[in-house]
Amino acid sequence: MRTGTGERIEHLPTSGRTGVREPEPTSPDTDDTRAEPPREAKREADRTMIDRSAKPHRIERFRREPKRRSLVVDRIEDLGPRMRRIAFVSPDLADFDSRAPDDHIKVFVADPSAEGKIVMRDYTPRLFDRAARRLTIDFTLHDDGAVTAWARTATVGARLDIGGPRGSMVVPDDFDWYLLVGDETALPAIGRRVEELRPGVAVTTIVVVDGPDDVQTFETAADHRPVWVFRRDLPAGGDLLARDAAALRDAIEARPSPEGEGYAWIAAEARVARTLRDHLLEVRHHPRAWLKAAGYWVAGSAGASDKFDP
Ligand SMILES: Cc1cc2nc3c(=O)[nH]c(=O)nc-3n(C[C@H](O)[C@H](O)[C@H](O)COP(=O)(O)OP(=O)(O)OC[C@H]3O[C@@H](n4cnc5c(N)ncnc54)[C@H](O)[C@@H]3O)c2cc1C
Repeated sequence: MRTGTGERIEHLPTSGRTGVREPEPTSPDTDDTRAEPPREAKREADRTMIDRSAKPHRIERFRREPKRRSLVVDRIEDLGPRMRRIAFVSPDLADFDSRAPDDHIKVFVADPSAEGKIVMRDYTPRLFDRAARRLTIDFTLHDDGAVTAWARTATVGARLDIGGPRGSMVVPDDFDWYLLVGDETALPAIGRRVEELRPGVAVTTIVVVDGPDDVQTFETAADHRPVWVFRRDLPAGGDLLARDAAALRDAIEARPSPEGEGYAWIAAEARVARTLRDHLLEVRHHPRAWLKAAGYWVAGSAGASDKFDP
């Protein structure tokens, strides 16, 4: 059932060697108008070329009215030492709607450090079964945090309130390939995207986790090429986040982009995600419109995230 309204937005690449062809640059000329064509005319020329593409890569955005739901823990399973999967059931989920793998919901829990205060954090709807009114969320268990503390101690029958998702940005499954990069917090969205992609499409995932016990497998008909980067194998010393960023960047660099048009997605700690995004844009020249990157958490800052400009 549709609970939101959709508007179609076409994202067109403006640069990049992996994107559609750009108009030939005008040669330096004494004729000013030829050297610098009016912006509108250039845009029109770009559009004309792009419209010939067989794959429009239309990205759809959906908005919904905010709605709060009260859920009950039905099942708890540890996917690894740092990831706890919790399935929730509730009649409130009858009209729950999540259309994009990187949708997020707000999770509301009591603040353990301030009595009577509620905090909210973003989490990914990892799995949803409408018939069973069951929603599954994967919680990273890190050292410190209100939701992490809740997930560590949750038992079957415990209640959790959620809000949203308020919006979805639906990336079409018409790219030639996908590149998904991140840390543990990105794994729910990455797993969901890999499982939802069409049969045979090339998707490379590059994920940094502590070690082999944190590896996850995904059920998919896509041509999935998983790359796992283990922190325990990285050279010791220095800034942990800089090591994450360098290791992920090296793993990206070791794999040239496949032929055709690709969509890249990054989520990790904000500084790590920004480094990787800049690398894809500036070194790989990945088209900006076909790249989404986000800081899913900010080191040293509770409840913070960082949404970068498109
Ligand atoms: C759109 C979106 C979707 C997300 N989906 C998921 C998801 O499905 N599963 C998931 O586990 N996370 C997800 N996250 C990340 C999650 O919201 C943050 O990690 C959040 O800060 C955790 O809340 P907390 O109460 O446990 O910690 P907080 O109280 O927010 O933070 C306490 C301290 O821990 C640090 N910290 C926060 N997260 C981490 C971490 N992962 N590792 C190490 N230190 C950390 C903070 O910098 C702070 O110093 C998502 C974030 C966004 C923006």
